[in-house]
Amino acid sequence: MSIKAQYLDMPLDISELDGENLEYFRHGAAHDFYLQACTQCGLLRYPPTTACPWCANPASRWTKVEGRGAVHSYTEVHHAIQPAFRDHVPYLILLVDLDTQKGKPSAEEALRVVGNLVTPDGVLAPPELVRKVGIGTRVRMVFSDVAPGLALPQWTIDESATQPAKPWRYPQE
Ligand SMILES: [Zn+2]
Repeated sequence: MSIKAQYLDMPLDISELDGENLEYFRHGAAHDFYLQACTQCGLLRYPPTTACPWCANPASRWTKVEGRGAVHSYTEVHHAIQPAFRDHVPYLILLVDLDTQKGKPSAEEALRVVGNLVTPDGVLAPPELVRKVGIGTRVRMVFSDVAPGLALPQWTIDESATQPAKPWRYPQE
């Protein structure tokens, strides 16, 4: 069964043919984070896809993964691309290195999961939180409920983690 929903006035549509993403979001709807682990080499992969990017084996096993990591990079958006985003600028798009499988299969690699910076209850973060976050900030995954059967994985500041003294931020005007 496909998933259809609206998020900030944008249509989200996952086709009934997209088995990997339907399974990924089925877990997400229950606020659980699962990734596919290759049955041959054992490596996890993200985003969900049909075959292992390292050994090409198509078989995988859905595995629960801890949603914790550190910001690898980010984009701070000041110009809304959609009218419904106008009330939320500036907002952050984060690329997060998961702690799980960091440095594998080579030292530079990690599972890098994209999401917005949100408050702990899953709402796009206000400017005072946006200013606190940069490269190195420790974050944890939370879910923004969109519709029955659909929640988006997002990121919030990990209050229980030791944070860098000064996360790296792009020079501000
Ligand atoms: Zn593999």
